Amino acid sequence: MPHIDILGDRLRGKPDALNQKPFIAKIYRIEPDEEHGGYQCVVKWFYRPEDPGIPGGRKAFHGERELYKSDHRDVIHSDTILGRCCVHTLDEYNNLELVRPQDYFSRFSWSVQSRKFSPDQVTIYCSCRQPENPDRRMWQCDGCSEWFHAECVGSTPAALDALSYWRCPACMQTQPLAPDPLLEVLQSHLAGYQQQQQQQQQQQQQQQQLGGWMPAMSSNGSGSGIFGL
Ligand SMILES: [Zn+2]
Ligand SMILES: [Zn+2]
Repeated sequence: MPHIDILGDRLRGKPDALNQKPFIAKIYRIEPDEEHGGYQCVVKWFYRPEDPGIPGGRKAFHGERELYKSDHRDVIHSDTILGRCCVHTLDEYNNLELVRPQDYFSRFSWSVQSRKFSPDQVTIYCSCRQPENPDRRMWQCDGCSEWFHAECVGSTPAALDALSYWRCPACMQTQPLAPDPLLEVLQSHLAGYQQQQQQQQQQQQQQQQLGGWMPAMSSNGSGSGIFGL
């Protein structure tokens, strides 16, 4: 199998005739190839979810650039190396401003020896109860804070983007009315006013306990005197 690497960098391998996608590997060691010239590279392969021998195959939650890190060690010749690529964590991949052709990500490891994935559990989202697919946007419900795909809630990205406040179908059933923005402002002010009153009472008690000789504390400190209803 052709694939790639150098000094721990991750490189793309030349694709073979059957698989037009480049092979990806991490290079661990490079040694001169005395017999053929060039270099021999000790690598560990990354797999794609759809690769032969990988249980489960490609699922809807797999990103297009998703790879499984593996413990499959191999030795390849430097002539098969196509170039350098970068295998990110899922968080790093999500934070890329621009996904270049050489950008990939890996969140699971696959052990060829034990035939197990690690981790074997991840957080699931949406009514479809799927792990995150970084290629599919999700929107957060303002009611339950859960994340949803637009199509899974019968909407479209454009429609959800246009809303400043959105609740999922389940939250719409239990709380059909959007909160009144004015009421929220009033409640917020009231909470601040009550807190300020408590602080003033505590200050007065402390001053009384000190025998009343302390100068009166200013009431113009932070959070006081701003209440404007
Ligand atoms: Zn969904
Ligand atoms: Zn909700």
